[in-house]
Amino acid sequence: MRTFFIGSFEEEKIMPVYNFAAGPAVMPVPVVNQIQKELPSLNGSGMSIMEISHRSAQFDEILQTAKQDLRDLMAIPDDYAILFFQGGGTGQFAAAPLNMATKYHRIAVLDSGQWATRARDEAANLGVTADTVGSSLADHYHHLPHLAAPLAKDTYDYLHITTNNTIEGTAYRDLPNANGTPLIGDMSSNILAQRYRVQDFAEIFAGAQKNLGPAGVTLVIVKKALVHHLTGLPSMLDYDLFIKKDSLYNTPPVFAIYALGLTLKWAKAQGGVDALQARNEKKSAKLYAFLDQSKLFHNLVQPKDRSLTNVPFVTGDAKLDQAAVAAAAKAGLMNLKGHRSVGGLRASLYNAMPEAGVDALIDFLHDFEQHH
Ligand SMILES: *Cc1c(COP(=O)(O)O)cnc(C)c1O
Repeated sequence: MRTFFIGSFEEEKIMPVYNFAAGPAVMPVPVVNQIQKELPSLNGSGMSIMEISHRSAQFDEILQTAKQDLRDLMAIPDDYAILFFQGGGTGQFAAAPLNMATKYHRIAVLDSGQWATRARDEAANLGVTADTVGSSLADHYHHLPHLAAPLAKDTYDYLHITTNNTIEGTAYRDLPNANGTPLIGDMSSNILAQRYRVQDFAEIFAGAQKNLGPAGVTLVIVKKALVHHLTGLPSMLDYDLFIKKDSLYNTPPVFAIYALGLTLKWAKAQGGVDALQARNEKKSAKLYAFLDQSKLFHNLVQPKDRSLTNVPFVTGDAKLDQAAVAAAAKAGLMNLKGHRSVGGLRASLYNAMPEAGVDALIDFLHDFEQHH
């Protein structure tokens, strides 16, 4: 007999907050509540999700349901595999070139920010030639880079783009014209937040901890015809092996996949990606409209390239930025500190951030401005 202590903490002492963290990030309240409710005993089994076998029928249903829900949400065609890895988006900076840069051993990278440079450097680190084919570094990444010249044909295994630049606050609405070269998208921070056509990509990958659930699982969606059986790869990064084993070559992150599955159910209940995108457009437009008229807080990104999910802004005075972050936390508006490399503030407005959170943030910033 097990004794459970769920509910023994003093709920009334928890201050209601809005969490603007960039990742791990806010999750939908109903999802967290369902996890709490089901944690001691999954489906009346007397065992928690953390205790069941990844080979059990129960987990198989969780895995297959998550894949189908994702297929529905993103309209993923049947000729694309859905795979779950560990190692985060960063793991895929290695896995993508190892699996997909096998013909020319050369990739093209649009340098739209720090995650793009990380991907480029990791590919180079693995012996793949990684050419920067456009960069907005000189403009501090305040706009999206364009291809400096049309992409050379039959030269690159793929073009790497970061669909949403989490640190810099830009996002692609229209994809670059890759001139027939396959496209790989790091969608870590706007997957399910913005509609893309899966067919436009050879591969999409995303760490879960921004829009899909908790940290610990990494999603890969890859066109099966482009995946080859290779020798000499670490098994844990091997797309062909993971396709053959349905992501169950070894023990997968069982809990993270379960929580991701609940998050997908929630996303469906919200009306799917189009409804979520419409909500994200509204939320971010409100914040940008405030920032554009503010005399104190400024978003420096070119308007047409602005992200729906990550909104960085500054006062121009690092001390005042810090004061704003601290005062906001006191008011229950958490984790507004900008990325350590760019400073300032950053509000991440992922799917699970309600519009009321954005309203509360704008009220706070307005008030702060009046007093400074
Ligand atoms: C967070 C992030 C990553 C890194 O993800 P990890 O899971 O921490 O490795 C990569 N790319 C983008 C766009 C991100 O936002």
